[in-house]
Amino acid sequence: MTSAKAAPPPVPVPMARILALQPKLRPTDLEDAVVSTEDPLLLETVCNLVRIWATARKDLPADFSERVQVKALSRQPLSFASIDMETVERDAMQVNEPFPPGSGVDASPWPTSDLFMLRPLSPPTFPPAPQRTRVDLPGRQSVGVCTSCQGAGAENCVTCAASGRQICGSCSGTRQVTCPQCGGGGTHIGVSGRYIQCRRCNTRGTIQCQNCRATGQVTCQVCAGRGTLQCEVCSGHGNLKSRWVLNVNTETAHEHEFSLADPWPAPTEQLLSDTEVLSEVIVRPADGDATISAVAPASLRSMARRVLEKVSSSASGEQRIAAYRVQIRGTYLYDVRLEYSGRPFTVLIGGLRSQVFPKSALPAKSGALQTLGRFFQKGLRALATDERPGVGSDFVKAVSVGSAHLTDTNCLLPAVAAYLRCPCSVTGEGYVLQVVEEASKGSIPGPAIPISIKLDSEVAGKLTLCASVIIGDAHRDQFPLALSLNSKLMVGRLAVTEIDGVETYIYVDRRPYDFASAGRYAAVLQGMAAAVRWLSSSKPLN
Ligand SMILES: [Zn+2]
Ligand SMILES: [Zn+2]
Ligand SMILES: [Zn+2]
Ligand SMILES: [Zn+2]
Repeated sequence: MTSAKAAPPPVPVPMARILALQPKLRPTDLEDAVVSTEDPLLLETVCNLVRIWATARKDLPADFSERVQVKALSRQPLSFASIDMETVERDAMQVNEPFPPGSGVDASPWPTSDLFMLRPLSPPTFPPAPQRTRVDLPGRQSVGVCTSCQGAGAENCVTCAASGRQICGSCSGTRQVTCPQCGGGGTHIGVSGRYIQCRRCNTRGTIQCQNCRATGQVTCQVCAGRGTLQCEVCSGHGNLKSRWVLNVNTETAHEHEFSLADPWPAPTEQLLSDTEVLSEVIVRPADGDATISAVAPASLRSMARRVLEKVSSSASGEQRIAAYRVQIRGTYLYDVRLEYSGRPFTVLIGGLRSQVFPKSALPAKSGALQTLGRFFQKGLRALATDERPGVGSDFVKAVSVGSAHLTDTNCLLPAVAAYLRCPCSVTGEGYVLQVVEEASKGSIPGPAIPISIKLDSEVAGKLTLCASVIIGDAHRDQFPLALSLNSKLMVGRLAVTEIDGVETYIYVDRRPYDFASAGRYAAVLQGMAAAVRWLSSSKPLN
C-alpha cells in the first residue's frame, strides 16, 4: 500500500527570466563555441536554481537542496532558424441581396480576372490557426427581379390561405365550448346535496366561446390578419442586387531547425517557444533568399535557407505564398555537473524560463531513507512552511516572479526596496534601486538616484554586496581632490574606473551580504544617495 503508488509528475516552478543565466543575446553570440565557466556568481545562481527546481520534485532525497553542489559548469548557444510561411487562397463568389429602390449599382467591369491582381494582399499576420475572411469586391453588379416572389415583394400567407383569419383553437370553429360549471351534463350537485339544473348554460351543457366571441374564427397569428407575408429573399423590394465577394483563406505553415556546436541531448522542441527572437525579418517570396543574410549570422545561413526551402515546398497549387517570417532564435544552454552525497549527475538548463532537464539518472530516495525523510519532513513542517531546508518558499516565489535575484537567498534587496519605498529591478548581476530622497513635508524631493547593487561572490559562499553609482568623467589632475573627499563620505568611497575607454568616477560601497538587515542596508543606500546629491549640487570635483 505504501510505495506501490506512482509518484505524481513534478510540477516545475515557473521562472521569470534570470539575466545572470540568460543575458540579452545578439545574433552573432549564437556562433560561440562551448565554454566552461568558474564565475562564482554563475555557479551560485545555477546551484540555487537547481535547489528551487528540486522543491517541485518529490522523487529526490529530502536533504537534496542542502547537500547538492555544482562541480562544473559549461554553456553553449542553442540556435533556431524558425520560418513561418503565410499562404493565401482566394475565390470570388456571387451573392444576392435585397435592392431597395434608389440605392446604387456599380456595374463597372473588373480590370482583371486575376483575383490576386484585383485586390492587393493585406499585410501578413501569420495566424496560428487557419483564418477565413470575406471582403466586398466592387464592380460587376447587376439588378434582377426576385425569383422567389416574381417581383411582388410579398407572398400569400399559407397558414390562413391568404384570408387573414384562422379557425378558433378553443372551439375548433363550433363557436361553443363545454360549460365549465356542469362539465357538459346540464346538472350538478348543489349546496343541498341534490342534483340541480345548471343555470350557467341553462342545462344546454355548452356556452358561447369567449375566445372568438362566438364567431368560430380568430385573426391569423402568422400574418397578423394581412393575408400576405413580406418576401424574405428581397425584403419586400421585389428586386435583388447581385454583387461579388472575395473569400480569403489564410494559413500559416511552420518549419524550424536547431543548431548546437556540441550535440548535447537537449529537448529542443520544448525549448523553441522558450527562446528569444534575436532577429526577425518579413520577406516576400521574391526576395526570400537575399534577406536571410541580413537576419542570420554566417554560420546559420545555410540552415535558414534549408528551412525556407522546406516550408516553401509545403505550399499547394491553389495557394499563393504571401510572405515569410524568418526568425533567428536562441538561448544559452548550460551543462551542469552536480554532486549529491559523492554521486555525480548532470542536468541541462536552458530557455528564458530557465528550464531544468536531467541529463543523467537523478539521485533516488532509498526505501529506508524515504521513511526517514517523511519523518523529518513532518518535523520540518512544524518548524517552517517550506518542506526542504536551504530554500525558503518566499525566496522561491520571489525568484519565480522575477522580483529577487537567484543569489539573494534572503530576499534582502526586495526588502530594502520595500523599506525605502523605491522601485527595484533585477539585473544580470544583482539589482538596480531607484533611491528617492526623504523629503520633509511640503518640499519637493530631488530626482531618484539609481544605485546598482552587484551580488559578488568572489569566494563561493562569501557573498558581497557591492553598491555603486556612476558620478561622471574623471580627470587625472583631480584625483588628489577626489581622494580627500573620501574622508567626508559617511559610507563608501570614490574610485576611478574605466568605462568604455573613458576614465570615470564611480562611488562604491562594499560590505558582506551577512552584514545586513534590510533596515541597516537601507540606511547605507540612503547615505549613498545623499552623498551623490551633495556631489552633484555642490560640485566639489569641478
Ligand atoms: Zn421577393
Ligand atoms: Zn395568415
Ligand atoms: Zn352548464
Ligand atoms: Zn371559438
